[in-house]
Amino acid sequence: MTIPVEHVDVVIVGARCAGTAAAVPLARAGHRVVVLDKATFPSDTMSTHVLVPNGVQELQLMGALPGILALGPTKVRHLTLHDEDGLEIKERFKPFSGIDYGLCIPRDQQDAVLVEAARAAGAEVREKVTVQEVVWRDGRAVGVRCKSGGKVYEIQAELVIGADGRRSKVAAEVGAWEPYRASKNGRGFAFRYLDDPQGEDAPKAFQIFRKHGNQVLVLPSCPAGRTLVVNMTDAADIPKYHEDPEGEWKALVAGDPALEERIGGATNASDLRVTDHLSAYYRRSTGPGWALAGDAGHFKDPVTGNGMRDALKFGRRLGEEVAVTLHDPAELDAALTRWEKERDADTISTYHWGNRESRPGPTSPLVREVLRTFAGQDAPNLSDTFNRARPIEAIITPARMVKGLVAALRAPGADRLGILKEVWGELPAEIGARRHRLLDGFRSSRPAGTERPGWDLGPTPKAPSLRPATEVVPEQPVDSIQSPREKVSA
Ligand SMILES: Cc1cc2nc3c(=O)[nH]c(=O)nc-3n(C[C@H](O)[C@H](O)[C@H](O)COP(=O)(O)OP(=O)(O)OC[C@H]3O[C@@H](n4cnc5c(N)ncnc54)[C@H](O)[C@@H]3O)c2cc1C
Repeated sequence: MTIPVEHVDVVIVGARCAGTAAAVPLARAGHRVVVLDKATFPSDTMSTHVLVPNGVQELQLMGALPGILALGPTKVRHLTLHDEDGLEIKERFKPFSGIDYGLCIPRDQQDAVLVEAARAAGAEVREKVTVQEVVWRDGRAVGVRCKSGGKVYEIQAELVIGADGRRSKVAAEVGAWEPYRASKNGRGFAFRYLDDPQGEDAPKAFQIFRKHGNQVLVLPSCPAGRTLVVNMTDAADIPKYHEDPEGEWKALVAGDPALEERIGGATNASDLRVTDHLSAYYRRSTGPGWALAGDAGHFKDPVTGNGMRDALKFGRRLGEEVAVTLHDPAELDAALTRWEKERDADTISTYHWGNRESRPGPTSPLVREVLRTFAGQDAPNLSDTFNRARPIEAIITPARMVKGLVAALRAPGADRLGILKEVWGELPAEIGARRHRLLDGFRSSRPAGTERPGWDLGPTPKAPSLRPATEVVPEQPVDSIQSPREKVSA
């Protein structure tokens, strides 16, 4: 049977954050870009979807911001933190590109706008198309085979971009499914929409309530008056949410007077959604004629609120980087490697921070005193961790940690031995994260102290097609192709 073949410049699998963001600069540069997605938009996906100003500017850059603002979302200008011992922090976000607010748009609405932005830039977005295979010629990815409405066809292109999420078929097809760096996540997520009891007068702040080891986020959403509430809890508690979702939720709200005061009595607008499948990782993300953008190549704990920002930013940067080299394979592959290096350098601090933040447990006296060093200033500081204004190590500095340590040790009735043991336990993570950012090489799989063994990405979508491994595995530094199970241990 002959399969119909069409030729384009770039084929992108996945039409959400990374796929549409990559499509825009390529289409604007005049290339023929086809974006395929098995979903039909509007379509929801598992996400709590916070964007702080650094991420919102990406919506502006791709031309999606007017469509997003037309949805009538709350513009959120502050971050607040309420810890159980009465510690309160309130900061105004640092602006980026003149944007001084964050957004929290339900994914079905947000992603439909992204698709329209990609179309407006000139890309062709095809819905209800499932990619089944990557097509190869002489060891180079040259297209995809896909299925739509019972018809199978092939799209050939200079570049295949897998923007198809954590369970990336493209990653499996190019032999990059196994991460070279990964970490088990100790937190689970339980979240739902509420009609905010304070209506449109609700605080225009992303609020964090920390109590009993829970971190509850209250996030004004879209339209104004609708609020997303997320409990980032111990992953071990997630089975309880499966057994008795409403009972767990009631106990959560009743267990924290500050949270009860904020959202008690709210009408529940949606069912609870729950997940504890959140392992963080880096996959080898480029090779001859292919790239993995967004979650397909790299995922970090959602506690960082940065997954969409990175998918949008490095989708865009991928499109920009390859737009001028598309028709020269050697130049193209060099551009792909440059892009992957740039992504890794930009994301690594936040990856390690996410791994540390995803450890469950109540706030320790040491962490509380370090947090207290942020209190009393309206200027952006702690919020820069989410906003990516500086690397995490430049925000939670050694000086700040020493100040917190001294305060914790001096507090009346302090368990000094316990505090010093915690410091000792934290050192490998502190040193490892800094060493990794400053010294370790590209695609290094040297473990850092933040990483925990036991990560799990589920089964490979489908074994790679029957072709010799040498055809799809480009030359790598030796450490990047060893088994991640051997290399990544805390
Ligand atoms: C519980 C949770 C909470 C989160 N909270 C936040 C948050 O608050 N803020 C934040 O910034 N990030 C958050 N994230 C992360 C964020 O959701 C992701 O980083 C982001 O969605 C990545 O976008 P993407 O475009 O790479 O992939 P995805 O959004 O996963 O999109 C992939 C697309 O590829 C399509 N696809 C897959 N396979 C195929 C195929 N074979 N053929 C055709 N199409 C295919 C899918 O249909 C899908 O539309 C959260 C994630 C989780 C799990």
